[in-house]
Amino acid sequence: MEAGHADPESRQHGQFCWLSKAGRCRVAVYDEPRLTKRDEAGMDSTRQLGCHIVLPGRPDCCWTATAPETSYPTLTGLGGADVAVVGAGIVGLTAAYLLAQAGLSVAVLEASRIGRQVTGRSTAKITSQHALIYRRLIDTLGIDHAQRYAEANRSGAQQICSWVDELGIACDLEPKDAYTYTCDPTQRDDIAAEAEAARRAGFDAELLDRAPLPFETAAALRFRDQAQFNPVQYLIGLALAVEAAGGRIFEKTRVTAVDAGSRWRVTANEGSLDVEHVVIATHFPIAGPACHSSARRPRRRQVSMLLPASMGGASAMARPVAC
Ligand SMILES: Cc1cc2nc3c(=O)[nH]c(=O)nc-3n(C[C@H](O)[C@H](O)[C@H](O)COP(=O)(O)OP(=O)(O)OC[C@H]3O[C@@H](n4cnc5c(N)ncnc54)[C@H](O)[C@@H]3O)c2cc1C
Repeated sequence: MEAGHADPESRQHGQFCWLSKAGRCRVAVYDEPRLTKRDEAGMDSTRQLGCHIVLPGRPDCCWTATAPETSYPTLTGLGGADVAVVGAGIVGLTAAYLLAQAGLSVAVLEASRIGRQVTGRSTAKITSQHALIYRRLIDTLGIDHAQRYAEANRSGAQQICSWVDELGIACDLEPKDAYTYTCDPTQRDDIAAEAEAARRAGFDAELLDRAPLPFETAAALRFRDQAQFNPVQYLIGLALAVEAAGGRIFEKTRVTAVDAGSRWRVTANEGSLDVEHVVIATHFPIAGPACHSSARRPRRRQVSMLLPASMGGASAMARPVAC
């Protein structure tokens, strides 16, 4: 396919992944940051400021800051269910909703509040495009696996969009094109090879001479018809659907042990459940019969930023995050 320029109409509508020199890391930039509610610091509603976003001056994330609080009860005493789902991020609530729909009695146990951990602080892209994944999959595992991975991504994205529609979840779902781009001309061939690999995996992937961004880029890969949403609002809606399907949700309920007996005994701070099945959806492994916790390895990255003069004008180092 011929490389072309990005269509000017799409300049303000995209999700962008930057390809690092190593070809691995990526950073997504939203060109239309939207904050849909006036927050405590008095920010304007719905700001569209090119690549700039006015931060409220407190450490929070725009998705969590603009989603309502939830207040599900804490688990107390001894109870039972068919399945305990530990963790109410996107993995736990998706599993809980499917299991409840299948007729099982489900209890979701969340240490904190719905969706406010990794899912709620993510970049919020719903996309099958992940940096240079398809070329790597084809080279290492072959085209069949790459196509299966592509299909899993497509159906996951479709599942989210159709649930938003069917369940009427208000989560600012918007169709967007997704881009992976580079500023380094020597990486243009990598982007071109990824476009070709993605087309082999079944995507309508386009190679562009530049990304529709207000600075120079050397090449970009575009997937059309991807999406973005507010992941916290999405999970709050999914939690309501779990309840409507007969599931129970407990917040401020940190699971501290999963023990084998005639059934599984799932112990939390103030209560416990005896269940047939346990889904551990905590993102990080927790102590339990599956010994994954020893494979955990902490890393941290730092983000530096310049504060506007009204906030002191100094450069600041954001708090390190574990990832
Ligand atoms: C910076 C960043 C950006 C990302 N951007 C994107 C993106 O744009 N698009 C995309 O598709 N993916 C993105 N990802 C990846 C994606 O966010 C994660 O893969 C996904 O959100 C993980 O969901 P989860 O449900 O496993 O974890 P979480 O959302 O973290 O949910 C796990 C839940 O388990 C709870 N929990 C933990 N321990 C216990 C316990 N002992 N008892 C009870 N509950 C417990 C936690 O409180 C939490 O609520 C991003 C990841 C990061 C780090």
